[in-house]
Formats: sequence, structure tokens, C-alpha cells
Amino acid sequence: MTTNPMFNANPAFLDGTVKKLFIDGCWVEAKAGGTFDTTNPATGEILARVSEGGAQDIDLAVAAARRAFEGPWRNFKPDQRQNLILALAELVSKHYEELCILDTLDMGMPIGRSIQNRERVVGSIRYYAAQAMSIHGETIENSLDGEFFTCALKEPIGVVGAIIPWNSPLFATVKKISVALAAGCTLVLKPAEEAPLTPLRIGELCLEAGIPPGVVNIVSGFGETAGARLAAHPDVDKIAFTGSHFTGQKIIRASAGSVKSLSMELGGKSPNIIFADANLDKAVPGAAMATFNNAGQICCAGTRMFVERSIYDEFVARVAEFGSRMRVGNGLDINTQMGPLVSAEQLARVTEYLTIGAQEGAEAVTGGQRLTEGAYGKGNFVAPTVFRNVTDNMRIAREEIFGPVISAIPFDTIDDVVSRANDTIFGLGGGVWTTDVGKAHKVARRIRSGTVWVNAYNVMDPSVPFGGYKMSGYGREGGIHHVDEYLQTKALILNTD
Ligand code: ADP
Repeated sequence: MTTNPMFNANPAFLDGTVKKLFIDGCWVEAKAGGTFDTTNPATGEILARVSEGGAQDIDLAVAAARRAFEGPWRNFKPDQRQNLILALAELVSKHYEELCILDTLDMGMPIGRSIQNRERVVGSIRYYAAQAMSIHGETIENSLDGEFFTCALKEPIGVVGAIIPWNSPLFATVKKISVALAAGCTLVLKPAEEAPLTPLRIGELCLEAGIPPGVVNIVSGFGETAGARLAAHPDVDKIAFTGSHFTGQKIIRASAGSVKSLSMELGGKSPNIIFADANLDKAVPGAAMATFNNAGQICCAGTRMFVERSIYDEFVARVAEFGSRMRVGNGLDINTQMGPLVSAEQLARVTEYLTIGAQEGAEAVTGGQRLTEGAYGKGNFVAPTVFRNVTDNMRIAREEIFGPVISAIPFDTIDDVVSRANDTIFGLGGGVWTTDVGKAHKVARRIRSGTVWVNAYNVMDPSVPFGGYKMSGYGREGGIHHVDEYLQTKALILNTD
């Protein structure tokens, strides 16, 4: 592995102090006094000691969020909320490089990629700032006897519990915070235990932006304790969750006790369909990066690569060649194209699937193993992997691996590929590669998933809704309806006689 670190591996935030919880505008230790270490997945080094929030801390954060919601925050006008969100956007822009470094250190994302996304990340915060100014209800004509005025008012839903994963901490944190603020909600955000640093740093930026105490609270801690308490807390009105479908199911059950509103952005096993008439020079890197992006740790990764039989051998060989040439290494190196997996657990899980694939009879054309030579040995590195001879019923074709593993499957006709692409419990993403616009349209319409890309993959915009069909969840992030999910509708029936 070549290491050519271009970025500062020692941001000021990592000053050796214990990172505290952000509750009611203050930095506090966990009530039970616990801490946990967060490590660099590229080197195994400990980055920081972080306070381990538990049920008591979640209770304090929820109480602070409730006080803020019932108190001063309630009177903030849309333009005041907009200004605060814009102030946060400015601070995220100003400290963008540092935030990207924290993401890379904590979970491995190649900085060469994230550093280019400044406008996308800051732009999505600004998008929600605009949304703060466009919340409106409706007046309704009624047929009641007498003189009545009827309307539907929109009100913030209340206290939101946001539970986020580790695969994109910066983006997940700013999205969850800015949509909640746009709607006039308050929130308690629980980062993933694998990657709490960027969310905690964003807590500091919230303070600097002038967001009032209690409106945003950030409690680092573990899923089974802090996360579970948040999901079950009787005074939380809504849970906005992004993560695996197994955890999503637990949260749905836990939230049933107080019948919370939920939005669930869960996992996937997305089909990426390559027709023989596609522009293969574009489709090869497109299909490879549909999965190898972020080392496959993306919920909508296009991991089931369906290839029309006439080009199957050639196409699979070319994608494998692309994978074999990728620069895998420490994400701080600007030239790195694929970083490590986030944790030892994730490494064990992905390598187990590599073994399962081989046992099931699939052939790894490239990759298929952990990388252990030299500096790789200290981190959680797996080679970009392309399996061929995959059949629909193999576990590597059915289960979400969340690693850089493509399952290449041949197909013959449109009907054949559409029914097999839809034969999954998930429905998050999907891709179609063809130069025939009619075929692209027909196939895209028949894929049962929340997003279908044509001649592209993993392209997102804050104005375009993103979310799942089937067990990939419900609710949409982005788009004009996202804020609606943080609002209540109140009917007002006024006797004017
Ligand atoms: P992964 O398995 O890839 O780590 P998860 O879906 O388990 O993904 O984690 C996503 C988020 O859900 C993390 O913040 C994690 O702490 C949290 N979480 C895990 N288990 C629970 C739970 N039982 N209740 C609430 N949150 C949880």
C-alpha cells in the first residue's frame, strides 16, 4: 500500500480530551461515567475516547429537546429558522475539509471523493433552509350548516429522535438536523458508535451558529442502550432512522409503545442492469463504482449486476479489471479510490460472505479475500471483488453484504431480468444501462424501488426524493415532501356565526 497522506491526520478536534455529549447547549459527561474508544479503520489506531451516553443521558436530552420545543423555539419565525440553518451551512462550508478528515479518520471514506462534495453537502443544508420558508397548510371549502371556516394547519411534529449509521456521518448528520430545524422540530441525534466524531464536531458548529440550547442534542452511545432508549422514549414524537433493516425492525417494534411517527431508510440489494446496447465504456466504471464506492458501504449499492448474456463474459472481465486496478488504501491519501471497511465486525462479516460465495460455487474473478500485506494488515481492507457464475438463489445474490462485492448474473430478456431484479425483499436503488431510451423507460418503470438511475448510479440531489420500497423502508429524504414528514396536520373548524 502506498501512503501519500495529503491531509492533516491530526485535526484540532482530536486533542486527547474525552469527547462529551451535547445536551441542552452544554458539553457534559455521560451520567454513568462510561466512555468508549473510536478507532481508525485504516490503521487500527485509537482516535479518541468518547462519552458513552446511556438511557439516563437520552432522557436528559429528550427533556431538553421538549423544553426547547415548548419554550423559545416555538416562537422562532420561519425566517429566523432559515437564518440559523444558513449559518450552519456557512460553518459546515468553512470547516468542510476538517469534517471530511474526521469522516475519513473515523470510518475510512476516501477524502479524494468527499472533498469534492462540498457543494452537494452544503447545498443540501441550504435546500432545507429554503424549505423553512415554504411550509403552508390549506383552506378548505366545507358543506357544513351555518358559517364555518375550515383549514388545515401545518405544525412541527415535536421532538425527533434521529438515529444514523456510520457510512456517511457528515452528510447524514447535517441532513437530519437541517430538515428538523426547517420544520420547527427539536431533535436528539444518536450517531453510530463506529463513527461519532463528525456528528459531535457538528454539535460545536450548531452552538457557534447560534442554534438555541436544547434544539439540537447529540448523544453518542451504543445502539442497544442509547439507541433503544431513544426509539422507545414516550416523549419522542418521531424517529428518523437510517440503517440496516434488522435494526429498523427493532426500532419499529420499540416505537409501537407510544405510536411514534417513523421514517425508515433501510438497506438494499439493488439490481444494476446492463444491456448489450449500453455504452460499455461508461457502463464499466459506472457498474464498478455502483458497488465499490465507499467500499460498498452504501445502502443503495448496485450489488446485483445483471448483464445481458451476449456481453456477459466481456463485461464481467472488464469490471473485474477495473476493480483489480483500483487504488485501495488509507482514505487520507488523495489518490485512494477505496478505503477500509469501518470495523473489525464489518470485516468479519464481509470476509464471511466471500467464503460463502466461494462455497456456493461462485467464482471470484478478482478479489475474494482480505488484504493483509504490509500496512494493509493493520486495517480492515478487502479487495474489490467480482463474483461470476452467480445464481439468483445464492446468499451473495440475496443478502446485503455492505462491502465491495459484486455478484454478476447473466440474463436473456427484459421480462426475465425485470422479474429477477424484483425478486428481493428490498427496493432501494437500481440501475439500467442502455442506449435505447424506450427500453430504459420501460425497465425503469417496472423496477420496484425508490430510485432508478439510467446510465448513471448513486447520483443524488437534495431536490429529488430518496427512499425505499418494500423492506428498504418508508418515507423519503430530499424533495419537497421530506419536510412534511416532520409536520403534523391540524384541522381547524371555526364557527364564524
Ligand atoms: P450496522 O449493523 O451496519 O452497524 P445498524 O442499523 O445496526 O447498522 O446501525 C445504525 C444505527 O442504529 C446506529 O446508530 C446504531 O447504534 C443504531 N442501533 C443499533 N441497534 C439499535 C437498537 N436496538 N435500537 C436503536 N438503535 C439501534
